[in-house]
Amino acid sequence: MIDLRSDTVTQPTRAMRAAMAAAEVGDDVFGDDPSVNRLQEKLAEMTGQEAGLFFPSGTQSNLAALMAHCERGEEFIIGSLGHSFKYEAGGAAVLGSLWPCPVEYEANGTLDLNKVAALIKPDDAHFPHTRLMVLENTQNGRVLPLVYLQAATEFARHHGLNIHLDGARVFNASVKLGVPVREITQHFDSVSICLSKGLGCPVGTVLVGKRELIAKAQRARKILGGGMRQAGILAAAGLYALEHHVKRLAEDHANAKKLAEGLVQIKGIQLDLAAVQTNMLFLEIQPQHAQPLAQHLKQADILILPGVRLRLVTHLDVSAADVGRVITAFQGYFASR
Ligand SMILES: *Cc1c(COP(=O)(O)O)cnc(C)c1O
Repeated sequence: MIDLRSDTVTQPTRAMRAAMAAAEVGDDVFGDDPSVNRLQEKLAEMTGQEAGLFFPSGTQSNLAALMAHCERGEEFIIGSLGHSFKYEAGGAAVLGSLWPCPVEYEANGTLDLNKVAALIKPDDAHFPHTRLMVLENTQNGRVLPLVYLQAATEFARHHGLNIHLDGARVFNASVKLGVPVREITQHFDSVSICLSKGLGCPVGTVLVGKRELIAKAQRARKILGGGMRQAGILAAAGLYALEHHVKRLAEDHANAKKLAEGLVQIKGIQLDLAAVQTNMLFLEIQPQHAQPLAQHLKQADILILPGVRLRLVTHLDVSAADVGRVITAFQGYFASR
C-alpha cells in the first residue's frame, strides 16, 4: 500500500525498533527515565529553549501548553484553521476553560499582525484577558518566513502576549529553509514538536519552553492523564529519529514536488505548484470524482482521504518509485473520464 493520507502512518523501521528495544528506562512520573530525560534535553538544546517535556500526542502537548500559558477564562488568538482551534475537539474550552479567538490565515500561512492587534482586548471587565497568540509552522505544508517569525515574536513581546508555536512539522520547515531548527524556534515562549509525523516515530511529541512554563505544563499533563511510566521505550524512537530522520525530510519534499509536477499535467486536476513547499500537496477535483477516484486508487493499492480538495502527504514510507506509480494511477483514472 502507498498511503498518502498523512505522515502519521509511517511504520517504525527495524533500526528504530532495535533502538526502542534497547532503551534504558525508568519511571518518568518520578523523572527517572534516562531516555525520556535525554530526549527532552536534546530537543531543548536543539531548539534554543530551556527545557522539554515528553507527551503521548501533539494534541495533549498543545493543550498543556495553552493551560500553562493561560489561566481559566483567558483568551488565546489562533488561526481559524489552527490545529488547537479546529482539530482538537475544542479541548482548550472543554478541559482548560480557555477562550479561543480565531483569525483567518493569510495566503502564506501567517496571521496578519494588524488583525491580531485589533483582537487584543482592552483591560475591561467585559472582556477576557488576551494572554497568548499561537502560530503553526508548517501550516498546511507552508513554511512561515523567518522575518515574519521575528516580527511576530517582537509583536507579541510589545503587546505583553506570550507566543506559542504549534511546530508539529517544524523540522520540515527547518530542512526546507536549510537552517538549524533553533533559528525558527528560539524566540517562541513554547514550541510543540511531533515525533510521530515526518520523523517516523510511532508515538510522541515534545513541548519545549522556559523552565517555569514547562513546570506548569507538567502539572497540566498530569491532569490530562499524560504522565507515563517507562516511556523511554518511546523516547528512544524519538532520539533515533533526531539522529537519522531529520535530513531525509528533504526526500519527502522532493517527492511531494515530483508528485505535484506529475499531477498538475492531468486534465481534471487543479493544483498550485508554487504552494508545494514541503511534504504536502493540495489539489482540487470535481465533486463527482471524489469517491470513484479514491476507489480507483485503492484498487491500485494507493490510499487517500476522499474529497473534492485532496491533501496528499509524502513520508518515510513513500519512495520516489511510489510517486511514479501514484501519478500513473491518477492518469489512468482521468484518462477514462
Ligand atoms: C498532528 C498535529 C497535531 C496533533 O498531533 P497528534 O499527535 O495527532 O495529537 C497538532 N498540530 C498540528 C499542526 C498537527 O499537524
